[in-house]
Amino acid sequence: MSEADTGFVFAPVAPVVLAVAGREAVFPVHRIYCIGRNYAAHAREMGHDPDREPPFFFQKSADDLTGAGFMHYPAETAELHFEIEMVAALGEGGERIAVEDALGKVFGYGVGLDMTRRDLQGEAKKMGRPWDTGKSFAEAAPCTGIVPVSACGHPAVGAITLDVNGERRQTGDLKEMIWSVAEQIATLSRFFVLRPGDLIFTGTPAGVGPVQRGDRMVGEVEGVGLLEVEVV
Ligand code: MN
Repeated sequence: MSEADTGFVFAPVAPVVLAVAGREAVFPVHRIYCIGRNYAAHAREMGHDPDREPPFFFQKSADDLTGAGFMHYPAETAELHFEIEMVAALGEGGERIAVEDALGKVFGYGVGLDMTRRDLQGEAKKMGRPWDTGKSFAEAAPCTGIVPVSACGHPAVGAITLDVNGERRQTGDLKEMIWSVAEQIATLSRFFVLRPGDLIFTGTPAGVGPVQRGDRMVGEVEGVGLLEVEVV
């Protein structure tokens, strides 16, 4: 196809999509927002006081997502960390969304890994620089398909766990979130124009740690699903 036929000077990258449980149609992803330190025990293990800090967010790129069941060990790191998280998937957007309206914007939920080049993130923190190289890279966001709210409701209580090679490494409960999913949406919508297709990684419980090539991660959020990822 020529430029004149398509209107593009080269072929655009295809939209990033996630499967939807029980549906033929897929979920088109717009942005990925991630909250930092949203479980008290994890905030403490990262050296912060969970009681004094308002929520903060960073972004990954939509094309960091992978649903392949494996991820390649990324470049330029010697410390690749797992962070198991529930993922909220928006079906509607908005600005200045009230907390009481926020859950009405959610299409469904998934299980994701906020994979982190911890050494690069640590260096960036020390230098007062952005976290991007630590947080956003190829296959940095393994994620399951999305389970619609009609099937799973709005999970607010339930185990969130991660096993590596059959050994339990992260354990928490959704009820331990410092900022609820509704509060996260409301806060984000003050700073950003939220869109249908936005994903929110809602934070990780304590126990984050490194993986190597050959390790097999199995994450689960009770009532949402199971995510299996091998590091290759
Ligand atoms: Mn995280």
